Amino acid sequence: QSSERPALPDPTPKPSLPPGMVLGPDGKPCKICTAFRNWRPPASGKKSTAGMMAAFASGTGFRSLDSKQENATLPQHCPPDVEALGRATWSFLHATAAYYPTRPTTHQRANMLNLIHALPVLYPCTHCAADFGDKLKEHPPDVSSRERLSKWFCERHNEVNEKLGKEMFDCAKVDERWKDGPPD
Ligand code: FAD
Repeated sequence: QSSERPALPDPTPKPSLPPGMVLGPDGKPCKICTAFRNWRPPASGKKSTAGMMAAFASGTGFRSLDSKQENATLPQHCPPDVEALGRATWSFLHATAAYYPTRPTTHQRANMLNLIHALPVLYPCTHCAADFGDKLKEHPPDVSSRERLSKWFCERHNEVNEKLGKEMFDCAKVDERWKDGPPD
């Protein structure tokens, strides 16, 4: 006879998360890891944009889907959500790569490596940071030239695009997008 007991049901009630809502490492709803349109105001809160913004800014509770909020866009003066932060960060990273030297000095290479390796430690969207850290291990950054670094960032961004079900970007077009602009 086996001494193994059947597993007992876990008595701790688990909150069911609304779609798109992400919990942080502390187990609480993570504002900077969640898109604004997926952030729900507390059940007692207002449904106005101001009410949603106040709930988002304070990081307070969440509730079930609100069709009005599904289409909500982040007001300009609201703290960034995961999407605004991502767009701003990618703009910075791709533009920085686009203007990186063709023949970087040892000092420039070391600083670029420091910048890249700081992201998994400091990027405030914790699950984004952890995934990016894993990708860094799989694909060590190539900081040997402007062209190679731009390609490297493009490929890492495409990995995130793929994970989120977005379109792949044609990496042959990074200079057009981030440095030269479209041809006349
Ligand atoms: P973005 O993906 O932000 O792209 C901005 C612009 O860059 C696009 O309009 C396009 O013109 C251009 N572009 C797109 N792809 C490429 C490419 N491959 N190379 C060059 N240019 C390109 N969000 C999550 O929900 N989960 C995550 O795990 C996550 N991880 C992230 C990790 C990092 C390091 C960063 C910086 C962001 C991460 N994000 C994550 C945010 C996410 O990538 C997007 O920034 C966010 O969803 C907003 O997307 P968007 O469609 O507005 O355009």
